[in-house]
Amino acid sequence: MPLLCSLLLVFLLPVAARAQGAASPEWSAVEAETLRHFQALVRLDTSDPPGREQEAVDYLRGVLEADGIPVQTYVLESGRPNLVARLTGRGPGRPLLLMAHTDVVNVDPARWSHPPFGAVREGGYVYGRGTLDDKDNLASALMVMLLLKRLNVPLARDVILLAEAGEEGTTRVGIQFMTEQHFPAIDAEYCLAEGGRVERRDGQARFAAVQTLEKIPRAVEVTARGVAGHASVPLQSNAVVRLGTALARIADWQPPIQLNETTGTYFRRLAQIASPEAARRYADVLDPAKVQAVEQEFRATEPAHAAILHATASPTMVDAGYRLNVIPSEAKASIDLRLLPDDDPAAILESLRAAIADPAVSVDWAPRDVRPGGTSRLDTRAFEAIEAAVRRHYDVPTLPTMSTGATDMAYLRARGVQCYGIGPGIDVEDGPLGFGAHSDQERILEGELHRFVRFTWDVVTQLVVTP
Ligand SMILES: [Zn+2]
Repeated sequence: MPLLCSLLLVFLLPVAARAQGAASPEWSAVEAETLRHFQALVRLDTSDPPGREQEAVDYLRGVLEADGIPVQTYVLESGRPNLVARLTGRGPGRPLLLMAHTDVVNVDPARWSHPPFGAVREGGYVYGRGTLDDKDNLASALMVMLLLKRLNVPLARDVILLAEAGEEGTTRVGIQFMTEQHFPAIDAEYCLAEGGRVERRDGQARFAAVQTLEKIPRAVEVTARGVAGHASVPLQSNAVVRLGTALARIADWQPPIQLNETTGTYFRRLAQIASPEAARRYADVLDPAKVQAVEQEFRATEPAHAAILHATASPTMVDAGYRLNVIPSEAKASIDLRLLPDDDPAAILESLRAAIADPAVSVDWAPRDVRPGGTSRLDTRAFEAIEAAVRRHYDVPTLPTMSTGATDMAYLRARGVQCYGIGPGIDVEDGPLGFGAHSDQERILEGELHRFVRFTWDVVTQLVVTP
């Protein structure tokens, strides 16, 4: 940590602590209320599609207005409102935005052993769709707003809550609509949203993953062309075969490897908490002479780590032929391409073409909702506040992460908002067992929900008490 930052932290901590001491929440009462709002929100079926955010927004409005917090809604499509609540600060700081989405992905109720919208408590967990994505962040942001208001915390900047619609696949009614048409309502210096977690193993927190960056999704279409003919005479120009070869070459493609501030810091800090054998691999990533070899290792054993070192291409759909005895003249495949934020898209496409190396195969961009790029710095007060609160509440290091998937924070980052993805403690063992986000046993540890509220409260108060 640079000296200036250390000094700043030493200076700021007592200020924030004093302010919190003067207005400390009654945590046992807060926990009861958190659980009540959380369960109420999970019980509202806001499945998207079709997107039924109205009920959630009505609920939030009722709760916020009962405490005297004014609420505004912004609607592009009827029944799918976005809610904005603002606590006005008197200091010179630019606002802090707390963002969470009200919609959830669909469920197949037959696959659920607990009712998906039951918010059933069992064995220390709450089960239901949205418990991890994103009604945890929603309930936590709601509680922080209520507490700031009730405790009359003096604000050096505005605090805004955005409960957005359409995150799960219809961003045009949600974040796109808000950033394109109502940006002044949510414009902020910092934003906290979903996209992070505290990873637990054997019930112990290991590190906090805080999303500061994400890859940029694009679509590519690969088309192989050849001579059509009777299938009884195999042809070397068979478009299906050519496409197959092209896809195999995509699998072997070696895109340029590049680290950025986030991924470099991530591997450096991960090496510090990993087993000696794993630490060797993570240290090798930082060594230009060794990164190529470790990337090959990652492809087989840690594909998520390979995927943050370079652009990736996954063939996902194939379309060719129309009857058994006809060799078709054309075969197509769709490729899900994910660029690094610093990649030059044209150069990456050229690199993919060079890897396929077949003049009978064309490689072109295909339409896709292009999310804007953008980055969040690590040298901000917000990131420092997050790291300090992670230490205080979980006693683990913070790892900045670059997500391979896309989130709504991309739209805000593109407008210059420094966004950080945070989240509650999650057992790493839970995902493979089928309890993760989007699964049909989605669940959250109750204790971690409450700890997440306290953590978020600390981060927010740290940022709003002094500008
Ligand atoms: Zn989500």
